[in-house]
Amino acid sequence: MNLDIISIGDELLIGQTLNTNAHWISKQMNAVGFVVREQVSIADTEEAILTAVENSLGKSTVVLITGGLGPTKDDLTMPTLNKYFGGKLVRDEGVYQHIEQIITSRGYVMNKNNQDQAMVPDNCKVIHNENGTAPGLWFEKDGKVVVAMPGVPYETKAIITDTVIPLLKAKYELPEIINQMVYTQGVPESMLAELLTDWEDNLPSAIKLAYLPSPGRVKLRMSSVGKDRQQMQVAIDEQIEKLKQIIPDNVYSEDNEDLGELIGKLLREQGKTLATAESCTGGYIAHLITRVAGSSDYYKGSVVSYANEIKINALGVNAADIEQYGAVSQLVVEQMVLGVQKNMQTDYAIATSGVAGPTGGSVEKPVGTVWIALATPDGIISKKYQFGKLREVNIERAAMAALGMLRGWFLLTLLYVMCV
Ligand code: AMP
Ligand code: MG
Repeated sequence: MNLDIISIGDELLIGQTLNTNAHWISKQMNAVGFVVREQVSIADTEEAILTAVENSLGKSTVVLITGGLGPTKDDLTMPTLNKYFGGKLVRDEGVYQHIEQIITSRGYVMNKNNQDQAMVPDNCKVIHNENGTAPGLWFEKDGKVVVAMPGVPYETKAIITDTVIPLLKAKYELPEIINQMVYTQGVPESMLAELLTDWEDNLPSAIKLAYLPSPGRVKLRMSSVGKDRQQMQVAIDEQIEKLKQIIPDNVYSEDNEDLGELIGKLLREQGKTLATAESCTGGYIAHLITRVAGSSDYYKGSVVSYANEIKINALGVNAADIEQYGAVSQLVVEQMVLGVQKNMQTDYAIATSGVAGPTGGSVEKPVGTVWIALATPDGIISKKYQFGKLREVNIERAAMAALGMLRGWFLLTLLYVMCV
């Protein structure tokens, strides 16, 4: 069952307002069982609205529209839809009283704009807007549905959750849709696709696979549409098990993308603590860890040792080693990690030192060279990474790799405990 989303508003087209409505609505509608066929953003003009509605109704069963329902002259959605569906505007008493209540409760007197907002097409179902003055409008034509809602995100969210979804579920028989995410790290998209060729080729036809890369990790989305949700989930779980046998070290989660949260869970479970010493990541790892509520239980703090003198004075790095090997070197990053582990008295510590770019690169250490060290109760591991040219991406990839190193360590020790 196809569904289209039309977002109306000049502000969307000039890049002034991010179209969060289409994003949020797509997610809800997909979860309910619709295939979102198209999202379009259009101007506040009668012509654009008529064309978009006609086009969408030709291809989809349900059309959800947001924007342009305000009381001012630039809001054309209501009169245009009224024209399209051939109705006439009549005053709705319930809407009038609701608007009056909102306006007077704020200490204003109803003006003509407010009164006009209670004039609605006589051939639609009016949807109560608890959080604003513009009502939602539900039109039906030849078994298809067009719903117009306000642009204000919180108003539309409530209308969709409280009214539109229950009405659509009652009207149409919708399939089950599962979009299962599997989060991987440590293998770039193209290499991952190569590793997974056989697995991918042998996926049941009901399961569709997509690769969604972001810096330092690749999400695999497995989608399935059908009637029996439990059966679909069993089929997907079987494939995830096979996947984990092929890339056991790279799959880090099936339901949570957040490595900071995952690391927190592992540290908490084992009653261990962590500290960080960050040069090129500049505190980003600390942010990823501390944005998780309750992280003070296992995270002690960070030294953002950006300048060499801080590496020396706050972490005890040997000045002569920086002089001889450079700040971006195995020896220095290992001294950094040991320094912060000792100073903050933690079980684990992570340190980063690299050339984030765009300047500062050299022939031996081009932009994107990053050393990461992990201190554990059993010793240190350090590794050199070669990322790309973009500063922000390098910082993110370094942070992901650093958290991934700690996760990998936990994985290894867990395996060891299971084997012994
Ligand atoms: P309107 O219903 O067209 O009067 O829109 C009211 C307000 O909602 C606008 O000022 C925008 O800030 C916001 N808005 C409209 N459309 C969207 C959209 N698609 N996504 C997010 N915000 C929106
Ligand atoms: Mg508008």
